[in-house]
Amino acid sequence: MKKPTYSGKCACGAVSYTVQAAAIGVIDYRRTDGEKTHEHPMLAVEREHLSVNSEEALCWEDVSSEGRQGVCRRCNARLFRYPNHSNKLLIAVGTLDGRQYLHEYLRRPQD
Ligand SMILES: [Zn+2]
Repeated sequence: MKKPTYSGKCACGAVSYTVQAAAIGVIDYRRTDGEKTHEHPMLAVEREHLSVNSEEALCWEDVSSEGRQGVCRRCNARLFRYPNHSNKLLIAVGTLDGRQYLHEYLRRPQD
């Protein structure tokens, strides 16, 4: 079976990336920002399958005890998250090119 390749970029386009593998899953990531809690879907992939095309535009920040997040230095978009104690990478679904991959994923039967 051919592995899908995902691609995406931040809002300003300074950071773009590709993923050379099938996604492991889609999760709803909860982030607390002051008093508000935001939930947003993130695509989980194996860390080694990510290629970032513009490393210099990407800044890795520590996020409390949760792990690290990859942020664009120019537009401040949060693209990636590395949870602690995991070799998985989470990608903000909103930064992926197109949405078809997600619809396809959600249509898969759960087993
Ligand atoms: Zn950007």
